[in-house]
Amino acid sequence: MTIGVLALQGAFIEHILRLKELNVDSFEIRQKKDLEQTMDGIILPGGESTTMYKLLEDLEMTETLINLIDKGLPVLGTCAGLLLLAKEIENHSHSFLNLMDIKAKKNAYGRQLGSFRCKGNFSHYTDLEFVFIRAPYIISTSKNVEILAKHNDKIIAARQDNKLVTAFHPELSENKEIHQYFLNMIK
Ligand code: GLN
Repeated sequence: MTIGVLALQGAFIEHILRLKELNVDSFEIRQKKDLEQTMDGIILPGGESTTMYKLLEDLEMTETLINLIDKGLPVLGTCAGLLLLAKEIENHSHSFLNLMDIKAKKNAYGRQLGSFRCKGNFSHYTDLEFVFIRAPYIISTSKNVEILAKHNDKIIAARQDNKLVTAFHPELSENKEIHQYFLNMIK
């Protein structure tokens, strides 16, 4: 199995290291031609969604990326990656890749609670550590979206078919379960 990790900006190295720990091969996606490589899944990391999207546009990667995910390539979007996939962002003028039936809020925890850690459950996994960095959360989802985790009543992880998103950074905690869940989606 090989996973492509979008490596334009943000926390991509940590995803690559986590995949290595799980004995999964990965490669960095830095330009359009990297999207032509064979991959079984793709990770859109945390970072800054507006900047990451601008780079995708400047490098003419947006359309190819949308097509790959639309055709069923499994994708894990974390934090900014969640915002890239959302069809609606409440406090932003437009959506980015526009692929997942969720409405998200950018920088949803405000400045005071910009970064924090907490414990919670994800799907059937219990007591995982969640790391939030200027995180979004999901305000609402359509019926075809499965809610996988909540924190204080806010949706922080969800899945729709081949698309898995987390508002937190699973690559920055000790837990490997979220990546494992993503890999199980691919199998
Ligand atoms: N606040 C960032 C954004 O708006 C997301 C933060 C993150 O990915 N850690 O894109």
